[in-house]
Amino acid sequence: MDKKDDSDNDKKNSENPENTPIESLKKQLESLFGGRAVNFEFAPNFDSPEPERKDERPEEDPDEALKRIREFSMKPREIRDYLNRFVIKQEEAKKVLSVAICDHYNHVRRCIENPDLAETEYGKQNILILGPTGVGKTYLMRTAAKLIGVPFVKADATKFSETGYVGADVEDLVRDLVKTANGNVDLAQYGIIYIDEIDKIAGSGGGNSRDVSGRGVQINLLKLMEESTVNVVSPQDMMGQMQMAMSMRGGKKPKRTISTRHILFIVSGAFDRLSESVAKRLNKNSIGFASNAAENLDSDISDNLKFVETSDFIKYGFEAEFIGRLPVRVACEALKPDDLAEILVSSEGSILKQYREDFSGYGIDFSITPEAIKKIAELAHREKTGARGLMTIFERTLRDFKFELPSSGIRNFEVNTDIVDNPKNSLKKLLLENGDLIKSAMFDDIGRFVEQFKAETGYLLELDDPAKEKLMERALESDRSVSSVAYEVFKDFEHGLAIVSRNTGENRFLIGKDAVESPDKFLSELVVKSFKKEISK
Ligand code: ADP
Repeated sequence: MDKKDDSDNDKKNSENPENTPIESLKKQLESLFGGRAVNFEFAPNFDSPEPERKDERPEEDPDEALKRIREFSMKPREIRDYLNRFVIKQEEAKKVLSVAICDHYNHVRRCIENPDLAETEYGKQNILILGPTGVGKTYLMRTAAKLIGVPFVKADATKFSETGYVGADVEDLVRDLVKTANGNVDLAQYGIIYIDEIDKIAGSGGGNSRDVSGRGVQINLLKLMEESTVNVVSPQDMMGQMQMAMSMRGGKKPKRTISTRHILFIVSGAFDRLSESVAKRLNKNSIGFASNAAENLDSDISDNLKFVETSDFIKYGFEAEFIGRLPVRVACEALKPDDLAEILVSSEGSILKQYREDFSGYGIDFSITPEAIKKIAELAHREKTGARGLMTIFERTLRDFKFELPSSGIRNFEVNTDIVDNPKNSLKKLLLENGDLIKSAMFDDIGRFVEQFKAETGYLLELDDPAKEKLMERALESDRSVSSVAYEVFKDFEHGLAIVSRNTGENRFLIGKDAVESPDKFLSELVVKSFKKEISK
Protein backbone atom coordinates (compact mmCIF):
# COMPACT_ATOMS: atom_id res chain seq x y z
CA MET A 1 0.00 0.00 0.00
CA ASP A 2 1.27 3.45 -0.89
CA LYS A 3 1.25 5.10 2.49
CA LYS A 4 0.98 8.84 2.00
CA ASP A 5 1.08 10.32 5.45
CA ASP A 6 -0.31 13.60 6.64
CA SER A 7 2.88 15.52 6.29
CA ASP A 8 3.18 14.38 2.71
CA ASN A 9 -0.22 15.70 1.87
CA ASP A 10 0.27 18.91 3.76
CA LYS A 11 3.42 19.51 1.82
CA LYS A 12 1.62 19.01 -1.45
CA ASN A 13 -1.14 21.38 -0.60
CA SER A 14 0.97 24.12 0.88
CA GLU A 15 1.03 27.59 -0.59
CA ASN A 16 4.76 27.60 -1.17
CA PRO A 17 5.42 29.84 -4.20
CA GLU A 18 7.81 27.28 -5.63
CA ASN A 19 5.13 24.76 -5.32
CA THR A 20 2.75 26.35 -7.80
CA PRO A 21 1.60 25.52 -11.31
CA ILE A 22 4.04 24.19 -13.79
CA GLU A 23 7.23 24.32 -11.71
CA SER A 24 5.77 22.13 -9.02
CA LEU A 25 4.23 19.83 -11.58
CA LYS A 26 7.55 19.49 -13.36
CA LYS A 27 9.34 18.73 -10.11
CA GLN A 28 6.73 16.26 -9.10
CA LEU A 29 6.96 14.54 -12.45
CA GLU A 30 10.72 14.53 -12.46
CA SER A 31 10.92 13.09 -9.00
CA LEU A 32 8.27 10.55 -9.80
CA PHE A 33 9.43 9.50 -13.19
CA GLY A 34 13.01 10.69 -13.45
CA GLY A 35 12.67 12.25 -16.89
CA ARG A 36 11.40 15.26 -18.81
CA ALA A 37 8.39 13.58 -20.24
CA VAL A 38 6.21 11.33 -18.22
CA ASN A 39 6.92 7.98 -19.66
CA PHE A 40 4.74 5.57 -17.85
CA GLU A 41 7.12 2.72 -18.44
CA PHE A 42 8.85 4.12 -15.38
CA ALA A 43 5.86 5.16 -13.33
CA PRO A 44 6.13 3.29 -10.04
CA ASN A 45 2.48 3.54 -9.12
CA PHE A 46 1.27 2.13 -12.35
CA ASP A 47 3.69 -0.69 -12.73
CA SER A 48 2.90 -2.43 -9.50
CA PRO A 49 2.07 -6.04 -10.23
CA GLU A 50 -1.63 -6.50 -10.91
CA PRO A 51 -2.44 -8.83 -7.99
CA GLU A 52 -1.41 -6.11 -5.52
CA ARG A 53 -4.05 -3.73 -6.86
CA LYS A 54 -6.94 -4.22 -4.51
CA ASP A 55 -9.21 -2.00 -6.62
CA GLU A 56 -9.05 -4.56 -9.36
CA ARG A 57 -9.65 -7.54 -7.19
CA PRO A 58 -10.84 -10.35 -9.43
CA GLU A 59 -14.34 -11.60 -8.90
CA GLU A 60 -14.15 -12.92 -5.41
CA ASP A 61 -15.50 -16.05 -3.87
CA PRO A 62 -18.52 -14.77 -1.87
CA ASP A 63 -17.45 -16.87 1.11
CA GLU A 64 -14.10 -15.06 1.12
CA ALA A 65 -15.89 -11.71 0.92
CA LEU A 66 -18.17 -12.65 3.79
CA LYS A 67 -15.23 -13.88 5.82
CA ARG A 68 -13.54 -10.51 5.37
CA ILE A 69 -16.63 -8.67 6.56
CA ARG A 70 -16.93 -10.97 9.59
CA GLU A 71 -13.29 -10.31 10.39
CA PHE A 72 -13.38 -6.60 9.57
CA SER A 73 -10.56 -4.93 11.46
CA MET A 74 -9.53 -1.94 9.38
CA LYS A 75 -8.67 1.39 10.96
CA PRO A 76 -9.88 4.73 9.58
CA ARG A 77 -6.31 5.74 8.73
CA GLU A 78 -5.82 2.62 6.61
CA ILE A 79 -8.94 3.37 4.61
CA ARG A 80 -7.95 7.01 4.21
CA ASP A 81 -4.47 5.98 2.99
CA TYR A 82 -5.99 3.60 0.49
CA LEU A 83 -8.36 6.33 -0.79
CA ASN A 84 -5.35 8.65 -1.12
CA ARG A 85 -3.95 6.39 -3.80
CA PHE A 86 -6.90 7.07 -6.05
CA VAL A 87 -8.69 10.21 -4.95
CA ILE A 88 -6.93 13.59 -5.00
CA LYS A 89 -7.97 16.27 -2.50
CA GLN A 90 -11.24 15.82 -0.55
CA GLU A 91 -9.21 15.33 2.63
CA GLU A 92 -12.11 16.05 4.96
CA ALA A 93 -14.43 13.73 3.06
CA LYS A 94 -11.83 10.97 3.16
CA LYS A 95 -11.50 11.25 6.93
CA VAL A 96 -15.21 11.42 7.59
CA LEU A 97 -15.97 8.52 5.27
CA SER A 98 -13.16 6.37 6.68
CA VAL A 99 -14.50 6.80 10.19
CA ALA A 100 -18.12 6.18 9.16
CA ILE A 101 -17.17 3.07 7.19
CA CYS A 102 -15.11 1.64 10.03
CA ASP A 103 -17.88 2.32 12.56
CA HIS A 104 -20.45 0.72 10.30
CA TYR A 105 -18.51 -2.45 9.51
CA ASN A 106 -17.26 -2.81 13.08
CA HIS A 107 -20.88 -2.74 14.18
CA VAL A 108 -21.76 -5.27 11.47
CA ARG A 109 -18.97 -7.55 12.67
CA ARG A 110 -20.10 -7.31 16.27
CA CYS A 111 -23.70 -8.02 15.29
CA ILE A 112 -22.56 -11.14 13.44
CA GLU A 113 -20.55 -12.23 16.49
CA ASN A 114 -23.43 -11.50 18.83
CA PRO A 115 -26.84 -11.49 17.10
CA ASP A 116 -28.53 -10.06 20.22
CA LEU A 117 -26.65 -6.84 19.61
CA ALA A 118 -28.45 -6.39 16.31
CA GLU A 119 -31.70 -5.98 18.24
CA THR A 120 -30.39 -3.07 20.31
CA GLU A 121 -30.77 0.50 19.16
CA TYR A 122 -27.93 1.65 16.90
CA GLY A 123 -27.74 4.87 14.92
CA LYS A 124 -26.57 3.89 11.47
CA GLN A 125 -23.80 5.99 9.95
CA ASN A 126 -25.63 6.83 6.73
CA ILE A 127 -23.73 9.53 4.90
CA LEU A 128 -24.66 12.70 3.02
CA ILE A 129 -22.00 14.04 0.65
CA LEU A 130 -22.40 17.51 -0.79
CA GLY A 131 -20.44 19.04 -3.61
CA PRO A 132 -20.24 19.78 -7.31
CA THR A 133 -20.26 17.18 -10.02
CA GLY A 134 -17.17 15.20 -10.95
CA VAL A 135 -15.12 15.91 -7.82
CA GLY A 136 -14.88 12.32 -6.60
CA LYS A 137 -17.98 11.76 -4.46
CA THR A 138 -18.91 8.49 -6.15
CA TYR A 139 -15.31 7.58 -6.75
CA LEU A 140 -14.57 7.77 -3.02
CA MET A 141 -17.37 5.40 -2.15
CA ARG A 142 -16.80 3.03 -5.03
CA THR A 143 -13.12 2.77 -4.10
CA ALA A 144 -13.95 2.18 -0.44
CA ALA A 145 -16.49 -0.53 -1.36
CA LYS A 146 -13.86 -2.28 -3.46
CA LEU A 147 -11.39 -2.17 -0.61
CA ILE A 148 -13.84 -3.71 1.84
CA GLY A 149 -15.09 -6.14 -0.79
CA VAL A 150 -18.80 -5.33 -0.53
CA PRO A 151 -21.22 -4.89 -3.44
CA PHE A 152 -21.92 -1.30 -4.47
CA VAL A 153 -24.79 0.19 -6.47
CA LYS A 154 -25.45 3.72 -7.57
CA ALA A 155 -28.64 5.37 -8.82
CA ASP A 156 -30.01 8.86 -9.30
CA ALA A 157 -32.76 9.86 -6.89
CA THR A 158 -34.65 11.46 -9.78
CA LYS A 159 -35.44 8.10 -11.33
CA PHE A 160 -37.66 7.05 -8.45
CA SER A 161 -41.30 7.82 -8.11
CA GLU A 162 -43.35 7.68 -4.97
CA THR A 163 -45.47 4.73 -6.07
CA GLY A 164 -42.91 3.01 -8.21
CA TYR A 165 -45.54 2.74 -10.98
CA VAL A 166 -44.06 5.39 -13.22
CA GLY A 167 -40.42 5.51 -12.21
CA ALA A 168 -38.44 2.88 -10.41
CA ASP A 169 -39.21 1.74 -6.92
CA VAL A 170 -36.63 2.57 -4.24
CA GLU A 171 -36.65 -1.10 -3.26
CA ASP A 172 -35.20 -1.88 -6.68
CA LEU A 173 -31.94 -0.48 -5.32
CA VAL A 174 -31.73 -3.30 -2.81
CA ARG A 175 -32.56 -5.85 -5.49
CA ASP A 176 -29.80 -4.35 -7.67
CA LEU A 177 -27.42 -4.90 -4.78
CA VAL A 178 -28.39 -8.59 -4.75
CA LYS A 179 -27.75 -8.74 -8.51
CA THR A 180 -24.35 -7.09 -8.06
CA ALA A 181 -23.57 -9.74 -5.44
CA ASN A 182 -24.47 -12.41 -8.03
CA GLY A 183 -27.63 -13.29 -6.16
CA ASN A 184 -25.85 -13.78 -2.86
CA VAL A 185 -28.25 -12.23 -0.33
CA ASP A 186 -25.87 -12.88 2.57
CA LEU A 187 -23.28 -10.65 0.94
CA ALA A 188 -25.73 -8.08 -0.47
CA GLN A 189 -27.08 -7.32 3.01
CA TYR A 190 -23.72 -5.71 3.89
CA GLY A 191 -23.47 -3.72 0.67
CA ILE A 192 -23.35 0.01 -0.02
CA ILE A 193 -26.14 1.91 -1.82
CA TYR A 194 -25.26 5.30 -3.28
CA ILE A 195 -28.03 7.68 -4.29
CA ASP A 196 -27.00 10.76 -6.24
CA GLU A 197 -28.95 13.94 -7.10
CA ILE A 198 -30.73 13.81 -3.77
CA ASP A 199 -31.06 17.61 -3.86
CA LYS A 200 -33.52 17.18 -6.75
CA ILE A 201 -36.08 15.42 -4.55
CA ALA A 202 -36.38 18.24 -2.05
CA GLY A 203 -39.96 19.29 -1.42
CA SER A 204 -41.63 22.72 -1.69
CA GLY A 205 -39.04 24.46 0.44
CA GLY A 206 -36.64 24.10 -2.45
CA GLY A 207 -39.21 25.38 -4.94
CA ASN A 208 -38.89 22.15 -6.84
CA SER A 209 -41.35 20.95 -9.43
CA ARG A 210 -41.06 17.37 -8.19
CA ASP A 211 -42.53 18.60 -4.95
CA VAL A 212 -45.17 16.03 -3.95
CA SER A 213 -43.47 13.04 -5.43
CA GLY A 214 -40.14 14.15 -3.98
CA ARG A 215 -41.56 14.09 -0.48
CA GLY A 216 -42.97 10.62 -1.06
CA VAL A 217 -39.62 9.35 -2.34
CA GLN A 218 -37.94 10.78 0.75
CA ILE A 219 -40.35 8.84 2.98
CA ASN A 220 -39.77 5.63 1.02
CA LEU A 221 -36.02 6.07 1.18
CA LEU A 222 -36.29 6.79 4.87
CA LYS A 223 -37.94 3.42 5.48
CA LEU A 224 -35.26 1.72 3.48
CA MET A 225 -32.43 3.47 5.32
CA GLU A 226 -33.96 2.69 8.70
CA GLU A 227 -34.63 -0.99 8.48
CA SER A 228 -36.98 -2.77 6.20
CA THR A 229 -37.37 -6.14 4.60
CA VAL A 230 -37.34 -6.21 0.83
CA ASN A 231 -38.46 -9.06 -1.42
CA VAL A 232 -35.48 -10.33 -3.38
CA VAL A 233 -37.74 -10.68 -6.41
CA SER A 234 -40.01 -7.76 -7.21
CA PRO A 235 -43.75 -8.63 -7.02
CA GLN A 236 -44.02 -7.22 -10.58
CA ASP A 237 -41.31 -9.52 -11.91
CA MET A 238 -43.31 -12.57 -13.01
CA MET A 239 -40.35 -14.35 -14.53
CA GLY A 240 -38.31 -13.85 -11.37
CA GLN A 241 -41.19 -15.11 -9.24
CA MET A 242 -41.39 -18.26 -11.34
CA GLN A 243 -37.65 -18.85 -11.17
CA MET A 244 -37.78 -18.40 -7.42
CA ALA A 245 -40.67 -20.91 -7.13
CA MET A 246 -38.71 -23.42 -9.24
CA SER A 247 -35.58 -23.14 -7.17
CA MET A 248 -37.62 -23.49 -3.96
CA ARG A 249 -38.38 -27.03 -5.10
CA GLY A 250 -34.68 -27.83 -5.34
CA GLY A 251 -32.48 -28.76 -2.42
CA LYS A 252 -31.15 -25.47 -0.99
CA LYS A 253 -33.82 -22.85 -0.45
CA PRO A 254 -32.79 -19.40 -1.66
CA LYS A 255 -33.52 -16.43 0.60
CA ARG A 256 -36.73 -14.67 -0.44
CA THR A 257 -36.15 -11.46 1.47
CA ILE A 258 -33.29 -9.21 2.43
CA SER A 259 -33.05 -6.88 5.41
CA THR A 260 -31.65 -3.39 4.91
CA ARG A 261 -30.46 -3.20 8.52
CA HIS A 262 -26.77 -3.48 7.66
CA ILE A 263 -26.78 -1.79 4.28
CA LEU A 264 -24.81 1.45 4.31
CA PHE A 265 -26.60 4.28 2.51
CA ILE A 266 -24.82 7.22 0.97
CA VAL A 267 -26.74 10.07 -0.58
CA SER A 268 -25.20 12.96 -2.44
CA GLY A 269 -26.03 16.04 -4.42
CA ALA A 270 -24.58 19.30 -5.72
CA PHE A 271 -26.83 21.46 -3.47
CA ASP A 272 -25.63 24.64 -5.16
CA ARG A 273 -28.77 26.61 -4.23
CA LEU A 274 -28.42 25.49 -0.64
CA SER A 275 -25.08 27.23 -0.61
CA GLU A 276 -26.80 30.60 -1.08
CA SER A 277 -29.01 30.20 1.94
CA VAL A 278 -26.06 29.07 4.03
CA ALA A 279 -24.21 32.20 2.92
CA LYS A 280 -27.17 34.32 4.05
CA ARG A 281 -27.33 32.59 7.40
CA LEU A 282 -23.61 33.12 7.85
CA ASN A 283 -24.14 36.75 6.94
CA LYS A 284 -21.66 36.46 4.15
CA ASN A 285 -21.86 38.48 0.99
CA SER A 286 -24.09 36.79 -1.46
CA ILE A 287 -21.96 34.48 -3.55
CA GLY A 288 -20.71 35.96 -6.72
CA PHE A 289 -20.10 39.43 -5.27
CA ALA A 290 -16.77 38.47 -3.85
CA SER A 291 -15.34 37.86 -7.23
CA ASN A 292 -16.44 37.25 -10.74
CA ALA A 293 -13.89 34.56 -11.31
CA ALA A 294 -15.56 31.24 -11.94
CA GLU A 295 -12.98 29.47 -9.85
CA ASN A 296 -13.77 31.57 -6.79
CA LEU A 297 -17.44 31.05 -7.32
CA ASP A 298 -16.97 27.29 -7.32
CA SER A 299 -14.85 27.46 -4.18
CA ASP A 300 -17.39 29.75 -2.50
CA ILE A 301 -20.16 27.26 -3.11
CA SER A 302 -18.16 24.37 -1.68
CA ASP A 303 -16.93 26.52 1.21
CA ASN A 304 -20.45 27.46 2.20
CA LEU A 305 -21.58 23.87 2.04
CA LYS A 306 -19.10 23.04 4.78
CA PHE A 307 -21.25 25.05 7.19
CA VAL A 308 -24.58 23.55 6.29
CA GLU A 309 -26.89 22.69 9.19
CA THR A 310 -29.98 20.54 9.58
CA SER A 311 -32.18 23.65 9.52
CA ASP A 312 -30.78 24.61 6.11
CA PHE A 313 -31.79 21.23 4.70
CA ILE A 314 -35.28 21.52 6.13
CA LYS A 315 -35.68 24.98 4.64
CA TYR A 316 -34.46 23.55 1.37
CA GLY A 317 -37.38 21.11 1.38
CA PHE A 318 -36.22 17.99 3.15
CA GLU A 319 -38.25 16.14 5.72
CA ALA A 320 -36.69 16.49 9.17
CA GLU A 321 -36.82 12.71 9.70
CA PHE A 322 -35.13 12.10 6.39
CA ILE A 323 -32.25 14.46 6.96
CA GLY A 324 -32.03 13.21 10.56
CA ARG A 325 -31.25 9.72 9.25
CA LEU A 326 -28.20 11.12 7.51
CA PRO A 327 -26.05 12.04 10.48
CA VAL A 328 -22.70 12.04 8.70
CA ARG A 329 -22.40 15.05 6.41
CA VAL A 330 -19.44 16.25 4.48
CA ALA A 331 -18.80 18.69 1.65
CA CYS A 332 -16.41 17.92 -1.19
CA GLU A 333 -14.34 20.73 -2.65
CA ALA A 334 -14.42 22.02 -6.21
CA LEU A 335 -11.31 20.93 -8.10
CA LYS A 336 -8.93 23.59 -9.43
CA PRO A 337 -6.76 23.18 -12.55
CA ASP A 338 -3.76 22.17 -10.40
CA ASP A 339 -5.86 19.45 -8.75
CA LEU A 340 -6.90 18.14 -12.14
CA ALA A 341 -3.25 18.00 -13.21
CA GLU A 342 -2.44 16.12 -10.06
CA ILE A 343 -5.22 13.63 -10.73
CA LEU A 344 -3.59 12.90 -14.08
CA VAL A 345 -0.14 12.52 -12.59
CA SER A 346 -0.71 10.73 -9.34
CA SER A 347 -4.11 9.05 -9.09
CA GLU A 348 -3.81 5.31 -9.59
CA GLY A 349 -7.07 5.49 -11.47
CA SER A 350 -5.73 8.20 -13.77
CA ILE A 351 -7.08 8.28 -17.27
CA LEU A 352 -3.47 8.63 -18.47
CA LYS A 353 -2.88 5.07 -17.39
CA GLN A 354 -5.79 3.96 -19.54
CA TYR A 355 -4.42 5.80 -22.57
CA ARG A 356 -1.01 4.35 -22.01
CA GLU A 357 -2.52 0.85 -21.94
CA ASP A 358 -4.66 1.51 -25.00
CA PHE A 359 -1.65 2.66 -27.03
CA SER A 360 0.62 -0.08 -25.75
CA GLY A 361 -1.96 -2.53 -27.13
CA TYR A 362 -0.59 -1.50 -30.53
CA GLY A 363 3.03 -1.50 -29.40
CA ILE A 364 3.07 2.31 -29.07
CA ASP A 365 4.92 3.86 -26.15
CA PHE A 366 2.75 6.72 -24.87
CA SER A 367 4.10 9.68 -22.92
CA ILE A 368 3.09 13.26 -22.16
CA THR A 369 4.98 16.41 -21.28
CA PRO A 370 4.26 18.27 -18.01
CA GLU A 371 3.29 21.34 -20.04
CA ALA A 372 0.69 19.31 -21.92
CA ILE A 373 -0.68 17.97 -18.64
CA LYS A 374 -1.05 21.50 -17.35
CA LYS A 375 -2.78 22.64 -20.52
CA ILE A 376 -5.18 19.70 -20.53
CA ALA A 377 -6.00 20.36 -16.87
CA GLU A 378 -6.80 24.01 -17.68
CA LEU A 379 -9.03 23.10 -20.60
CA ALA A 380 -10.73 20.41 -18.52
CA HIS A 381 -11.41 22.94 -15.76
CA ARG A 382 -13.28 25.14 -18.22
CA GLU A 383 -15.68 22.28 -18.90
CA LYS A 384 -17.05 22.75 -15.37
CA THR A 385 -17.61 19.03 -14.93
CA GLY A 386 -14.81 18.41 -12.44
CA ALA A 387 -12.47 15.55 -13.27
CA ARG A 388 -14.89 14.34 -15.92
CA GLY A 389 -13.65 17.26 -18.02
CA LEU A 390 -10.30 15.48 -18.24
CA MET A 391 -11.90 12.61 -20.10
CA THR A 392 -13.66 15.02 -22.45
CA ILE A 393 -10.45 16.86 -23.33
CA PHE A 394 -8.41 13.70 -23.72
CA GLU A 395 -11.00 12.15 -25.96
CA ARG A 396 -11.28 15.27 -28.08
CA THR A 397 -7.50 15.72 -28.35
CA LEU A 398 -6.48 12.14 -29.01
CA ARG A 399 -9.45 10.79 -30.97
CA ASP A 400 -7.73 10.97 -34.40
CA PHE A 401 -4.40 9.82 -32.99
CA LYS A 402 -6.04 6.71 -31.60
CA PHE A 403 -7.46 6.07 -35.03
CA GLU A 404 -4.37 6.75 -37.13
CA LEU A 405 -1.34 5.81 -35.06
CA PRO A 406 -2.01 2.07 -34.78
CA SER A 407 -1.54 1.64 -38.54
CA SER A 408 1.24 4.20 -38.86
CA GLY A 409 4.19 2.16 -37.64
CA ILE A 410 4.98 4.94 -35.13
CA ARG A 411 6.27 3.37 -31.91
CA ASN A 412 6.73 6.42 -29.67
CA PHE A 413 4.06 9.01 -29.14
CA GLU A 414 4.63 12.02 -26.91
CA VAL A 415 1.74 14.40 -26.30
CA ASN A 416 2.95 18.01 -26.16
CA THR A 417 1.19 21.37 -26.00
CA ASP A 418 1.12 21.69 -29.82
CA ILE A 419 -0.92 18.52 -29.96
CA VAL A 420 -3.32 19.80 -27.29
CA ASP A 421 -3.66 23.19 -29.05
CA ASN A 422 -4.12 21.82 -32.52
CA PRO A 423 -4.59 18.08 -32.69
CA LYS A 424 -5.50 17.82 -36.38
CA ASN A 425 -2.48 19.73 -37.71
CA SER A 426 -0.14 18.05 -35.25
CA LEU A 427 -1.31 14.66 -36.41
CA LYS A 428 -0.72 15.57 -40.04
CA LYS A 429 2.76 16.81 -39.19
CA LEU A 430 3.57 13.71 -37.19
CA LEU A 431 2.47 11.43 -40.01
CA LEU A 432 4.49 13.40 -42.58
CA GLU A 433 7.60 13.32 -40.39
CA ASN A 434 7.25 9.57 -40.07
CA GLY A 435 6.70 8.83 -43.75
CA ASP A 436 9.27 6.01 -43.77
CA LEU A 437 7.64 4.26 -40.83
CA ILE A 438 4.23 4.60 -42.39
CA LYS A 439 5.57 3.17 -45.65
CA SER A 440 7.09 0.16 -43.95
CA ALA A 441 3.90 -0.40 -41.89
CA MET A 442 1.89 -0.31 -45.10
CA PHE A 443 4.32 -2.71 -46.80
CA ASP A 444 3.81 -5.05 -43.84
CA ASP A 445 0.06 -4.80 -44.31
CA ILE A 446 0.46 -5.65 -47.99
CA GLY A 447 2.59 -8.63 -46.97
CA ARG A 448 -0.23 -9.83 -44.70
CA PHE A 449 -2.73 -9.41 -47.53
CA VAL A 450 -0.52 -11.49 -49.86
CA GLU A 451 -0.25 -14.25 -47.25
CA GLN A 452 -3.99 -14.29 -46.76
CA PHE A 453 -4.59 -14.37 -50.54
CA LYS A 454 -2.21 -17.32 -50.81
CA ALA A 455 -3.88 -19.13 -47.93
CA GLU A 456 -7.33 -18.65 -49.43
CA THR A 457 -6.55 -19.26 -53.14
CA GLY A 458 -3.25 -21.10 -53.28
CA TYR A 459 -1.74 -18.40 -55.57
CA LEU A 460 1.22 -16.24 -54.66
CA LEU A 461 1.10 -12.59 -55.76
CA GLU A 462 4.67 -11.31 -56.02
CA LEU A 463 4.25 -7.55 -55.89
CA ASP A 464 7.27 -5.46 -56.84
CA ASP A 465 7.99 -2.19 -54.98
CA PRO A 466 6.35 0.11 -57.58
CA ALA A 467 3.17 -2.02 -57.31
CA LYS A 468 3.25 -1.73 -53.52
CA GLU A 469 3.84 2.01 -53.72
CA LYS A 470 0.91 2.37 -56.09
CA LEU A 471 -1.36 0.55 -53.60
CA MET A 472 -0.05 2.80 -50.84
CA GLU A 473 -0.70 5.92 -52.90
CA ARG A 474 -4.29 4.83 -53.54
CA ALA A 475 -4.81 4.12 -49.85
CA LEU A 476 -3.56 7.56 -48.85
CA GLU A 477 -5.61 9.31 -51.54
CA SER A 478 -8.82 7.58 -50.56
CA ASP A 479 -8.17 7.59 -46.78
CA ARG A 480 -8.50 3.84 -46.59
CA SER A 481 -6.36 1.04 -45.29
CA VAL A 482 -3.93 -0.41 -47.81
CA SER A 483 -5.34 -3.90 -47.29
CA SER A 484 -8.85 -2.79 -48.24
CA VAL A 485 -7.43 -1.18 -51.42
CA ALA A 486 -5.52 -4.39 -52.22
CA TYR A 487 -8.63 -6.45 -51.63
CA GLU A 488 -10.52 -4.29 -54.11
CA VAL A 489 -7.77 -4.35 -56.77
CA PHE A 490 -7.34 -8.13 -56.63
CA LYS A 491 -10.94 -9.15 -55.99
CA ASP A 492 -11.39 -10.86 -59.43
CA PHE A 493 -7.93 -12.40 -59.52
CA GLU A 494 -8.81 -15.73 -57.97
CA HIS A 495 -11.04 -16.72 -60.86
CA GLY A 496 -8.70 -15.43 -63.61
CA LEU A 497 -5.58 -16.91 -62.03
CA ALA A 498 -7.32 -20.28 -61.75
CA ILE A 499 -7.68 -20.34 -65.57
CA VAL A 500 -4.08 -19.23 -66.06
CA SER A 501 -2.85 -21.82 -63.61
CA ARG A 502 -4.85 -24.58 -65.30
CA ASN A 503 -3.30 -23.64 -68.68
CA THR A 504 0.29 -23.10 -67.53
CA GLY A 505 0.68 -24.89 -64.20
CA GLU A 506 1.93 -21.57 -62.64
CA ASN A 507 1.03 -20.69 -59.05
CA ARG A 508 3.26 -17.61 -58.65
CA PHE A 509 2.51 -14.38 -60.43
CA LEU A 510 4.62 -11.27 -60.78
CA ILE A 511 2.57 -8.17 -60.13
CA GLY A 512 3.88 -4.84 -61.34
CA LYS A 513 2.56 -1.28 -61.10
CA ASP A 514 0.53 -1.72 -64.33
CA ALA A 515 -1.41 -4.60 -62.74
CA VAL A 516 -2.44 -2.33 -59.86
CA GLU A 517 -3.35 0.53 -62.20
CA SER A 518 -5.50 -1.61 -64.57
CA PRO A 519 -6.15 -4.97 -62.95
CA ASP A 520 -8.80 -6.06 -65.48
CA LYS A 521 -6.53 -5.38 -68.45
CA PHE A 522 -3.62 -7.13 -66.76
CA LEU A 523 -5.68 -10.18 -65.92
CA SER A 524 -7.32 -10.55 -69.33
CA GLU A 525 -3.93 -10.27 -71.08
CA LEU A 526 -2.56 -12.91 -68.73
CA VAL A 527 -5.47 -15.22 -69.47
CA VAL A 528 -5.14 -14.73 -73.26
CA LYS A 529 -1.40 -15.41 -73.08
CA SER A 530 -1.99 -18.57 -71.09
CA PHE A 531 -4.36 -19.93 -73.77
CA LYS A 532 -1.77 -19.20 -76.44
CA LYS A 533 0.78 -21.16 -74.43
CA GLU A 534 -1.68 -24.00 -74.00
CA ILE A 535 -2.32 -24.12 -77.81
CA SER A 536 1.34 -23.97 -78.68
CA LYS A 537 2.09 -26.89 -76.37
P1 ADP B 1 -19.13 12.84 -8.61
O1 ADP B 1 -18.49 13.76 -7.63
O2 ADP B 1 -20.07 13.55 -9.53
O3 ADP B 1 -19.73 11.63 -7.96
P2 ADP B 1 -17.23 10.97 -9.68
O4 ADP B 1 -16.69 10.53 -8.38
O5 ADP B 1 -18.16 10.00 -10.36
O6 ADP B 1 -17.96 12.36 -9.57
O7 ADP B 1 -16.02 11.35 -10.66
C1 ADP B 1 -15.97 10.98 -12.03
C2 ADP B 1 -14.59 10.44 -12.36
O8 ADP B 1 -13.63 11.49 -12.27
C3 ADP B 1 -14.12 9.39 -11.40
O9 ADP B 1 -14.46 8.10 -11.85
C4 ADP B 1 -12.63 9.58 -11.35
O10 ADP B 1 -12.01 8.90 -12.43
C5 ADP B 1 -12.45 11.05 -11.61
N1 ADP B 1 -12.32 11.85 -10.36
C6 ADP B 1 -13.24 12.69 -9.85
N2 ADP B 1 -12.78 13.30 -8.76
C7 ADP B 1 -11.55 12.81 -8.53
C8 ADP B 1 -10.56 13.04 -7.53
N3 ADP B 1 -10.77 13.92 -6.52
N4 ADP B 1 -9.39 12.36 -7.61
C9 ADP B 1 -9.17 11.49 -8.63
N5 ADP B 1 -10.05 11.24 -9.60
C10 ADP B 1 -11.24 11.88 -9.57
